[in-house]
Amino acid sequence: MRACTRAVVVAGLIGLATGAAEAQTARPNVTILATGGTIAGAAATGTQSGYTSGAVGIDAMIAGVPGITKLANIKGEQIANVGSQDMSFDILLKLAKRINELARSSDVDGIVITHGTDTMEESAYFLNLTVKTDKPVVMVGSMRPSTAVSADGPLNLYNAVGVAVDPRAKGRGVLVVMNDVIHAAHSLTKTSTTDVQTFMSPLRGVVGVASYGKNDFYNTPPWKHTTDSEFDISTVTQLPRVDIIFADLDMSPDLINASVAGGAKGIVIAGVGNGNMNKASVEAAAAAVKKGVVVVRASRVATGLVGRNVEVNDDELGFIASDELNPQKARILLTLALLQKRTPQQLQALFATY
Ligand code: ASP
Repeated sequence: MRACTRAVVVAGLIGLATGAAEAQTARPNVTILATGGTIAGAAATGTQSGYTSGAVGIDAMIAGVPGITKLANIKGEQIANVGSQDMSFDILLKLAKRINELARSSDVDGIVITHGTDTMEESAYFLNLTVKTDKPVVMVGSMRPSTAVSADGPLNLYNAVGVAVDPRAKGRGVLVVMNDVIHAAHSLTKTSTTDVQTFMSPLRGVVGVASYGKNDFYNTPPWKHTTDSEFDISTVTQLPRVDIIFADLDMSPDLINASVAGGAKGIVIAGVGNGNMNKASVEAAAAAVKKGVVVVRASRVATGLVGRNVEVNDDELGFIASDELNPQKARILLTLALLQKRTPQQLQALFATY
């Protein structure tokens, strides 16, 4: 090669290398915090329904998503590796504190959390109330394990990173990205045990859609969250016990009494209809209130509000109505609310605010 040609080639290579370095630093920085779930699940074959959740580590998950590093400079951290049926407040407190730490760093533009779908709605809502950042915090899971034929995890993870780097995702609270849909933590719920289109936001609708890293946003959740939330877990290491009790035809009040005897500070009734329960249970719940236990009436019905004083006299009995929150999210809000003393009026106001 002649000297001048070589110089051009070398200059070109340097240019390419510089360009590559610039492209690398120009990309947003996303940290993926992994907690387990089916997205990290594995089975012996690609066509069996049985599998183990939380079997694959975060590095292998990232490596399994072609093109993901073109969206962002990605770092992975393993926070836990459990099926979300084993998600705990201990892990959630650790996760929320780590998100708050990462979000304070100017090196982090967005955070993605991989999580099982079974309790994703509760964890999303817990983080929505306890993380203190405007930066996108996006949760993601999958319905099929990583080894399945047509696994849904890789594209879900790709789309979650695509939302985490999108400036329009800022300030919308914790989001969940599954099967091309962006949900708000307040509104989503799991509706199918097996379908990849399991999450719905029945009352409020979805926040937007995500397609191969491109997003459309339709809605901003109206509820207080993240930077506007009054809940501060920075020094919290333990949370009060709140039980959920499922109401049904001719239910026994024994479970309410057992919950109180077991030390619950709060009870959420997954009531029939508009948060109802039979007379014996209303009496047991009223007796619990007299002992200082907070009773919230939610509903086992998939959609609709639970309003105050509709068929149950909340004012007289001292109950709280869950408003739009389903029982599992009402439990999260009540658990955090019980970290400090509040009047029934103040507690009721929280359910209209968060
Ligand atoms: N049991 C699993 C979990 O929640 C189910 C899933 O992730 O879809 O971890």
